[in-house]
Amino acid sequence: MKQILAIKPSKKGATDSFIWLSTKSGVYSVKTGYHSAMALQENPLDPLNLHEPFNWMTEVWNGKFSPKMKVFLWKTLQEALPVGGNLLNRGLMDTACCIHCGDLETTEHLFLHCPYATAVWKLAPFSINPNPNLLQSFSAALTTSKTWICLPPIGAGSGSLFPWICWAIWKARNTLIFEERLFQPVETMHKAITDFFFFRFGQVRIVFFGQVLG
Ligand SMILES: [Zn+2]
Repeated sequence: MKQILAIKPSKKGATDSFIWLSTKSGVYSVKTGYHSAMALQENPLDPLNLHEPFNWMTEVWNGKFSPKMKVFLWKTLQEALPVGGNLLNRGLMDTACCIHCGDLETTEHLFLHCPYATAVWKLAPFSINPNPNLLQSFSAALTTSKTWICLPPIGAGSGSLFPWICWAIWKARNTLIFEERLFQPVETMHKAITDFFFFRFGQVRIVFFGQVLG
């Protein structure tokens, strides 16, 4: 009821219309409709799938992240990261194709839906096998990721690996665009884990698929 009362009618007298929240244009697409249905089916009680307000303080500023990571998350959530779709929206680019697969490079595509991201997430050492491909938004993924517990030797209570994996995907994307060097998904996951260790424990330990190698 509160939310209904908070809706502001158009000052110019425009008539009401239906907007599909899962696309930037507001127009329904079969692809996003499928993702929404799957996400709701898989996680019907997830409030973010119902477009509830996002809590910045809890999810970002009070999170166990480095200041650099908080800024990265803030930029990503604000659509301020220079991914193709954001540059296109600001009229800074004519095309905005993903460097990995050629689809439109939005924030959600790059970090959650791209086949490259899918291949990286499959390597994540979580106790469950998350499928970010089903999550509609980066904010939903960030909130949901708190339930993705790391397996030893990283282990529960070490903090979320989610932002470090996103950061590594972002670095891999930039290295491919600007240096034409391709990091395989396994190298990207490796970078995420070593960066995470360096932040948490102040040293680099080489961890791979649950084993500490050095
Ligand atoms: Zn892609």
